[in-house]
Amino acid sequence: MAILTALPLAAQTALPLAAETAVTGSRLTGLVTAAYIIAGVLFILALGGLSKHETAERGNVLGMTGMAIALVATIALALRDSERPVGVTAVLIAVPMLAGLAIGSWRARTVEMTGMPELVAILHSFVGVAAVLVGYNSFLEADHTATDSLAYIHSVEVFLGVFIGAVTFTGSVVAWGKLSARMKSAPMTLPGRHLLNLGIIVGSFVLMLWFMNEHAELGGVPRAIIPLAIMTVLALVLGFHLVAAIGGGDMPVVVSMLNSYSGWAAAAAGFMLSNDLLIITGSLVGSSGAILSYIMCRAMNRSFISVIAGGFGSDGAVTGEARDYGEHREINAEAAATMLKDAKSVVITPGYGMAVAQAQYPVAELTSKLRAKGISVRFGIHPVAGRLPGHMNVLLAEAKVPYDIVLEMDEINDDFDDTDVVLVIGANDTVNPAALEEPGSPIAGMPVLEVWKARDVIVFKRSMATGYAGVQNPLFFKENSQMLFGDAKERVEDIVRHLSA
Ligand code: NDP
Repeated sequence: MAILTALPLAAQTALPLAAETAVTGSRLTGLVTAAYIIAGVLFILALGGLSKHETAERGNVLGMTGMAIALVATIALALRDSERPVGVTAVLIAVPMLAGLAIGSWRARTVEMTGMPELVAILHSFVGVAAVLVGYNSFLEADHTATDSLAYIHSVEVFLGVFIGAVTFTGSVVAWGKLSARMKSAPMTLPGRHLLNLGIIVGSFVLMLWFMNEHAELGGVPRAIIPLAIMTVLALVLGFHLVAAIGGGDMPVVVSMLNSYSGWAAAAAGFMLSNDLLIITGSLVGSSGAILSYIMCRAMNRSFISVIAGGFGSDGAVTGEARDYGEHREINAEAAATMLKDAKSVVITPGYGMAVAQAQYPVAELTSKLRAKGISVRFGIHPVAGRLPGHMNVLLAEAKVPYDIVLEMDEINDDFDDTDVVLVIGANDTVNPAALEEPGSPIAGMPVLEVWKARDVIVFKRSMATGYAGVQNPLFFKENSQMLFGDAKERVEDIVRHLSA
């Protein structure tokens, strides 16, 4: 998603003079407008395709095609409108683009699936910083003595673009730090933190009024740069503080919320550059990110406002205090294979640990072996299982698990009572009954896969350690639960071997 906005922004920030898309009657302008409309339609179709795993690949192809068309059209326009010789402009475009292409394709090839969330977060920060740079560039190029309504509108565009971009930049950097464990995932709860946020927003509004009405110069520089610079610093602090105040369990929503912010930052840049496609693309990313955040908040039973306001309404306490749930029981791979052979219905609930272990391939093999024996096997996917929405679906699709046996949490939660065996493979928070049973828990109220209702539960993990949210899981101590310790991939392979013996 960030790529949708980052690429055209990158092309445009390299060429501040190149964004004139007003209808001039020339043939090229007409062609570019047509290309932008086609690209816009392709982006909408891409988003539609990405909403289901059956059509996700097609969605990606449509998005890439739209982006290729958009880039060619934007570069053609840039070459025509540049005040420099065409060769110089071409080099100015080609050098940063090739550098970006090299770095981007290297990162895309080397990133682990488990590292995708932090990569996405840092890409959002690029969109943020690009919007800030476009804003300053647009400000410096404008006529500061003008007092007509268009000049005021331009001032608002610049101010909002820089504000949203700066918030997105530091917010994304903090999200990257938390997701990659470079920063503590526990919320930073400063005293009076909501007042601080409110103060920055009100202060920024006052600075905007000053910015719009400041037409004087200071030593050859427009004096309006003072309120703009103060606001930039405040917005950088706000972005940092908003995301630092959000706890680990709510990070999935934060990632999609920052995705939305990056879209609005790009749309604001589109207004400054008078680039219709950037406005369309930014709005698509902004609104789809906001809708996704809302859906995820509902799935986690969190208030949308509370999350975007930096944990507003929660006391932010993540205690994860040690409670004594009693003794856990253990099982080995051979006994697990025997239990599975005797079962009629099996549900597998994968989590982040399956991704870490890369256990999806033996899990797919286990699934086909059990199905060949006439045993019903289905998967239950929690909306925030793993570290990215859809993380588990992608891994299972990669291992060729049939789509029709991969069900969402709401589709499978009522069936656990009638399930013989549940295999919890590297999942923890998403199957934690404390979410429903312990009101003081940091994950209280989050809907979970109610696996403990099955006849038997086997939990695959390496230790008794907690999951991402840092809370112990009473599931591991229930009478119908048994722990199968070790690397999930190795343990599943052991079971497959025993089933084949
Ligand atoms: P969790 O992080 O709660 O638990 C994963 C479990 O996997 C751990 O208990 C760990 O235990 C186990 N594990 C790790 N490596 C291995 C391995 N090689 N073999 C076997 N087990 C392993 O994951 P869930 O998927 O259940 O929950 C997701 C959590 O992440 C939620 O709290 C969610 O809010 C959060 N989150 C989700 C995001 C999203 O967008 N989906 C984004 C960011 C956070 P052990 O170390 O003992 O092996």
